[in-house]
Amino acid sequence: MSASGLLVDRFGRVHTDLRISVTDRCNIRCMYCMPAAGVKFKPHEAILTFEEIERLVRVAAGLGVAKIRLTGGEPLVRRDVCRLVEALAAIPGIRDLAMTTNGVLLAQHAEELKRAGLQRLNVSLDTLDREKFRELARRDELPRVLEGIAAAQRAGFTQIKLNTVALRGQSEDDVVPLARFAREHGFELRFIEFMPLDGDGRWNPERVLPGEEILRILAGGIGPLDPIVDPEARVPATEYGFADGIGRVGVIASVSEPFCRRCGRLRLTAEGRLRNCLFSTEEWDARALLRSGGTDEQLTELMRRAVLAKRAEHGTDTGRFGQPERAMYQIGG
Ligand code: SAM
Repeated sequence: MSASGLLVDRFGRVHTDLRISVTDRCNIRCMYCMPAAGVKFKPHEAILTFEEIERLVRVAAGLGVAKIRLTGGEPLVRRDVCRLVEALAAIPGIRDLAMTTNGVLLAQHAEELKRAGLQRLNVSLDTLDREKFRELARRDELPRVLEGIAAAQRAGFTQIKLNTVALRGQSEDDVVPLARFAREHGFELRFIEFMPLDGDGRWNPERVLPGEEILRILAGGIGPLDPIVDPEARVPATEYGFADGIGRVGVIASVSEPFCRRCGRLRLTAEGRLRNCLFSTEEWDARALLRSGGTDEQLTELMRRAVLAKRAEHGTDTGRFGQPERAMYQIGG
């Protein structure tokens, strides 16, 4: 593909990565993401159909997008999501197809997801303590999540990552048990700094447990870690390997050290709005085009406009970010 056919922004960042929220609904209520009660979900007809998503991905693939991640809300609460996985896996140019899930329904779907062509899974897991899980997620679902992770491994998923949101005053005691669990089972563990995208609007900088502190806890509780240097890496996580060679840990310091300079991501919300950043305050309405007979050229133009409007950085580290109107579950994390 010629460089002019790619989605390149004003700062030369090539966009090859599209994160698609397939629903804003979720079967748990993590306190750093959703309000406890009174959540208003989008009506069914507002949400993109699988055919609409597939069409957008075809257009995006023609512009160099090669990585797709399905997320939400909780992607596994969307009925027949495996059908979408199968359709996207068949699109020429899509080389990496992944899903982020809370794992509650994974045991039921792992085999079908694998058969449908899903390549990678990220499962959110903040604690191995059942009571703490119930407090954080406001649902008593840890046993089902652990069953789901085991089922995914049995189904043949080999690159399972565990995502942990790091909250000061809450996560410190979970860091070492989670790392031991990940090392024992061959999962990569990733800590994500708490971002100002919670539905309750209670985020404040003191609640962020920074990456460097997580590394200190790990070094004290398990052993030293060495950074894994890969200058080509586009992943947001800075990765470390334990010095004894068993297991690796990633730290996504999205608040204290944003990775904007290397960001090649676009996002599509469940109701078909394109966003160029989690902290974007602007959106581009793909659904309106899809439902009014828009052409592929018009969809291409919309994607290019979204990419060209991307700012150099979102500013969470300097406090210069604008709080988006949407919480994480409404964007797609
Ligand atoms: N329901 C799925 C799940 O739990 O993985 C997918 C959607 S969830 C919004 C995607 C990821 O965003 C999860 O790993 C979740 O922990 C993370 N997340 C949600 N709110 C966050 C916040 N305020 N700061 C950092 N990460 C957050």
